[in-house]
Amino acid sequence: MKRVFASLLLLLTVLQADAYRKPRFKPFEIKDLEPKPAFWQVRPSEVIAACKAVRNGRVEVIAKTPLGYPVYAVFFGDFSEPAPQTNWSAGNSSTTRDAYLGEAPRDRQTILFLAGVHGSEPENVAAAVNMISLLDTGRDLLGREDPEFLALARRYRIIIVPCANMDGRLISPDHFRHQPYEVFRAASQGTWKDGSLIGWQGSKMWFPLPLDKVQHPGGYPNSEGYNLQHDVAPGDIRTAEARAICRLMARWRVDFQLNGHSCQYPPYLIYPSQVETEAHRKRADELCRKVNQAFYDTGLNPGRKGNTKHSTTINLTNLTHWCSGGLGITLENYHGCYTAKGEIWEYSFEQLMAPAFVALKVIMADGLEKPLAVR
Ligand SMILES: [Zn+2]
Repeated sequence: MKRVFASLLLLLTVLQADAYRKPRFKPFEIKDLEPKPAFWQVRPSEVIAACKAVRNGRVEVIAKTPLGYPVYAVFFGDFSEPAPQTNWSAGNSSTTRDAYLGEAPRDRQTILFLAGVHGSEPENVAAAVNMISLLDTGRDLLGREDPEFLALARRYRIIIVPCANMDGRLISPDHFRHQPYEVFRAASQGTWKDGSLIGWQGSKMWFPLPLDKVQHPGGYPNSEGYNLQHDVAPGDIRTAEARAICRLMARWRVDFQLNGHSCQYPPYLIYPSQVETEAHRKRADELCRKVNQAFYDTGLNPGRKGNTKHSTTINLTNLTHWCSGGLGITLENYHGCYTAKGEIWEYSFEQLMAPAFVALKVIMADGLEKPLAVR
């Protein structure tokens, strides 16, 4: 009897492990949206399946979202060393930074590619899932090899978080190709009860977004209305997702974070914030110039310049420095939708997920000449 009870309990635990809470809002539907191609694996169930299929990397669930979805991190390379004996803040102020760096391999810098912080932005989720496949099997989901990428990646330790905001992704469209600006905005930052757009900056007037006031919250925040990219107040980090990403960077002494986002313009790296150290601003400037040039050279950006000023933004990208002494840069990808002024650029699905690969190739090549983090 005892054994039967124990088996039932085990079965219940197993069932509960995959039992997700029902989202409060329905997925944002776009009528007549062009079906996504098979390699564009951006739904939470597809991200989970891709992570579970990994054979040559280590897979870890670093957090659970409020709806109970796993946030995965996939590791490629040797991640066997013990945890740091001190944190970066203390280690940086001690007699030697080696106290923090410990036994981490000195000939391998650690790169984190973080995707899907805003669940409504699928392009880097698609890139991350394809990158996991490439690193794991030697081919992406289109069956393409990329010896240049793999040769560079082998000189590093790579961590990929394919979708930090699984809750937001769950209620977001598969993509925004050819969609009007208003549809992209409504599905991203949501609409108030009267149907008006909350807007990009409007969404940042609340933390969390007051869900009882919205018609639809969009997939930008998590299911509790929190914008993970801005969940960075010391001592008051509200989400398990943001906390886990900070812990991940600190634990593995991340040297470089590429934080993948998307917007209504052709891709570019965002120049660093003034909150970065002077040395990191200079290093980030160099990398931004090189990567943005590569976007132009590869036809991924027709020459439209992103903002080259140093803003005063504080977000999850900047926290790289606080957590591990590493350098963080944000990639803005293109949604393939119309801008507010009615401009559009024709990009295939392959092109929409290409920028992360191009950016990381440039960054990895450059990092072999000169360390990515200035510690
Ligand atoms: Zn974003």
